[in-house]
Amino acid sequence: MASSAQIDELRNAEIEPQGHLIDGGRQPSRDGSVLKVFSPRDGKQLTTIANGGAGEIDLAVASARKSFNEGSWSQMAPVGRKKVLIRLAELIEAHAYELAVLGVRDNGTEINMALKAEPGSAAGTFRYYGEAVDKVYGEIAPTTNNVIGLIERGPIGVVGVIVPWNFPLMIGSWKIAPALAAGNSVVLKPAETASLSLLRLAELALEAGLPAGAFNVVTGPGAITGEALALHNDVDILAFTGSGGIGRRLLEYSAQSNLKQVFLELGGKSPNIIFPDAPSLEKAAKASVNGIFRNSGQVCISGSRLLVHRDIHDDFLAMVVAETEKLTVGDPLDTASDIGAVNSIQQLEKNLGYVASAIKEGATLCAGGERILSQSGGYYMQPTIFRNVSADMQIAQEEVFGPLLCVIPFEDEEEAVRIANATDYGLAAGIWTADLARAHRMIKKVQSGVIHVNCYGGTDITVPLSGMKQSGNGHDKSLHALEKYTALKTAWIDIG
Ligand code: NAD
Repeated sequence: MASSAQIDELRNAEIEPQGHLIDGGRQPSRDGSVLKVFSPRDGKQLTTIANGGAGEIDLAVASARKSFNEGSWSQMAPVGRKKVLIRLAELIEAHAYELAVLGVRDNGTEINMALKAEPGSAAGTFRYYGEAVDKVYGEIAPTTNNVIGLIERGPIGVVGVIVPWNFPLMIGSWKIAPALAAGNSVVLKPAETASLSLLRLAELALEAGLPAGAFNVVTGPGAITGEALALHNDVDILAFTGSGGIGRRLLEYSAQSNLKQVFLELGGKSPNIIFPDAPSLEKAAKASVNGIFRNSGQVCISGSRLLVHRDIHDDFLAMVVAETEKLTVGDPLDTASDIGAVNSIQQLEKNLGYVASAIKEGATLCAGGERILSQSGGYYMQPTIFRNVSADMQIAQEEVFGPLLCVIPFEDEEEAVRIANATDYGLAAGIWTADLARAHRMIKKVQSGVIHVNCYGGTDITVPLSGMKQSGNGHDKSLHALEKYTALKTAWIDIG
């Protein structure tokens, strides 16, 4: 549980208008334009961020390229990069409350979760890749005796990073940390509704000893600032987390520009499958509720489709509804809130649109469904559950990215697999059963990058997060993510 005293010291702190961070210093946009930042807690203006365009992206990419070519970071010995990244992890920990509260004021995640998932996870990620970087070796190929085939892994150049608003520090770090660890320079474009904690991270990186230009942040709207970064001819890799629609565009931008590599981490419509022989149906009900409603459902891996065996469907649904009714939705800076605010009024309206469409399609609302606490000015929504959902309804197919759970019955293992795989997505899944053989059969058959067995969520930095099908083409986390940011180079040496 977060400390209320530490939160209270920070909750109303004034936030200065925020410039971009380019070449080691803050700067406004050249035309002076800004975007207003509103807090989802109460709908009030928090501050402004600089409204960047192609000009600011050019400056940031030029700074990143200069830094890369000069080699102050890219040519530093791995043990040197390790020291800086570990120092950054320590600084993130020392500023954990500042970063968490700033992020919550910006994006609305409940503070208990934010503290762990944002600075907590970001510090762990920088430490993990910092520790890893001096343990990566090259290879010598098994050639004939008159030749040596050396295979080296080196940095690639300038990495563009574009991230969403749901966990900006955690998701940003999953890309920035391995990209920097490998010796690349980074230009980051955060989401316009969640830029503040990432700007502060970039300042801490300078304090940790990262050379100017190795990590730049340009803020602004996706369609302008993000597009300029994705179309830039001097960006070598684009690492993206966000929606499938924008992911598609990034692939087009790559084709229209320099064929930069594009790594996409996209959405999900993850099935959480409950068999009658789950080791504990109580634990399954609690985890299913947490697995969809934390951060107001704004979690890429959220278990938004609850598939329940017909024999236990009604009883299990009653348990899930009872657990849901225990949740308190409220000010995300109140430690008693289990669920904070939806990130923006647009997202809240989108969620309510899905509620209306589900009712129209014949699903039965059995909990929530409404905006609440509107007198606060903030964007809050009740955790919402629908039953009588068929697998072809819009709410069973499309990612809502809100606190909305569909409950779908199934007859047997085969039908569970068929329903689980019947969307365009393949990000995460949950399987609850005490039958080890069944669990392994399901792991093989369910098309998801991450499969939880008798739990939901909670994976750590040691394992990859990858999407199958239209949930993406890359992976964040683990040593596999480090490989994405390195180039293989062969030296073929004739030794006679
Ligand atoms: P989004 O796709 O609307 O925006 C993501 C980022 O892209 C933002 O920074 C935005 O400004 C930028 N952007 C928008 N238009 C752009 C353009 N034309 N060119 C370049 N950049 C552009 O997504 P969102 O609403 O911020 O985030 C929610 C989505 O992210 C959901 O689909 C969710 O599932 C997904 N997500 C995936 C993961 C994962 O690991 N797979 C994790 C978290 C969130």
